[in-house]
Amino acid sequence: MADVILVINAGSSSIKFSAFDVEGSRLDLVTRGQVEGLFSSPHFVAYNADGEKAGEHNWGEGAQLDHAGAIAHLGAFLRGHEAGHHLIGVGHRVVHGGAHFTKPVLANAQVLDELDKLTPLAPLHQPHNLKPIRIIAERNPDLPQVACFDTAFHASQTTLAQAFALPESITKNGVRRYGFHGLSYEYIASVLPEVAPAAARGRTVVAHLGNGASLCALDAGKSVASTMGFTAVDGLMMGTRCGNLDPGVILYMFDELGMNAREIEDLLYRGSGLLGVSGVSGDMRALLASQDERARFAIDLYVYRIGRELGSMSAALQGLDAVVFTAGIGEHSKEIRQRVCEQAAWWGIEFDPAANGRGDACISKPSSKVSAWVIPTNEELMIARHTQALI
Ligand code: AMP
Repeated sequence: MADVILVINAGSSSIKFSAFDVEGSRLDLVTRGQVEGLFSSPHFVAYNADGEKAGEHNWGEGAQLDHAGAIAHLGAFLRGHEAGHHLIGVGHRVVHGGAHFTKPVLANAQVLDELDKLTPLAPLHQPHNLKPIRIIAERNPDLPQVACFDTAFHASQTTLAQAFALPESITKNGVRRYGFHGLSYEYIASVLPEVAPAAARGRTVVAHLGNGASLCALDAGKSVASTMGFTAVDGLMMGTRCGNLDPGVILYMFDELGMNAREIEDLLYRGSGLLGVSGVSGDMRALLASQDERARFAIDLYVYRIGRELGSMSAALQGLDAVVFTAGIGEHSKEIRQRVCEQAAWWGIEFDPAANGRGDACISKPSSKVSAWVIPTNEELMIARHTQALI
């Protein structure tokens, strides 16, 4: 029986997991799934590699299942499944590595203490990302666990690209641009040489368009700029996050609207973006299906903001050779891809509607000066690769 690597992506109310068989240098997905609705109405579901349901459990409305309970259930599921038999390591998605952790790292007690100190930089994610590492370490102290950071891939950016125009009294606390979605961009950069060799060598902007969304400027596969900065609320308009915002608006909400910091945080992270502008939904599928005028305006703004930020990323790259679409909206929405490409026609993108309609990897015409691509991301596989390499 093959060795298995487990990948965990834990949030405040959910734990997503994938398990990979290790066959030499190959990693084959055996099962994936999630526990959602922690502390409210927990629900576990797992699928085999071919998408067939492999397990399901409902705890019922109001059940107080916490992260430890969810991990215990996952452990029992994996032990009863082929994927639990030779668990050799666990890889975790950790949102913030700060300035120090610029590569994946074995998550021992000392590293965990260091990562805890980064919680003020990502209070909504970091504690939840770290919790399962401690829970698993308590039960299996000898099982190697690897922390993989969403910030690490952007460590290649220059200090200029990372800087805010703020005084040192503020920036010395670690206030700078970090960038996120790094595991997604790293995966895309890893497959580009095979899928689009010229884009791999050239100046490429990757558009990770999911619930969270950002652009990354890749120069020969290295991150040189990103639309996300100090936190994951900067840059593009997202499902429920506002993206780039004049800081004066925050002061106005504080001074004139009497909102406190937590209310503003809630608005910027959970009540803005597609949801806030449309008043209909933060889900792109629902907006595309809606006849509501506000839904249409929200989509118009979403596309317009991508165009503006594409200009910024291209300026950082001193030009543009290719654009890559990935994540939920980027991989599945033909309409959004078409609108983004048509808006960027002035860059020299000759969009190919037939290729886009067929679901081809290349959606620009052969004569296009700037090529356009659709490449599915795989952050879990990236984490499994890092885990395999470190253990
Ligand atoms: P992610 O966070 O990567 O899972 O992406 C979630 C986003 O992708 C949501 O806004 C979904 O509505 C959107 N999405 C998924 N499938 C489609 C689709 N076929 N067409 C448009 N948007 C989609």
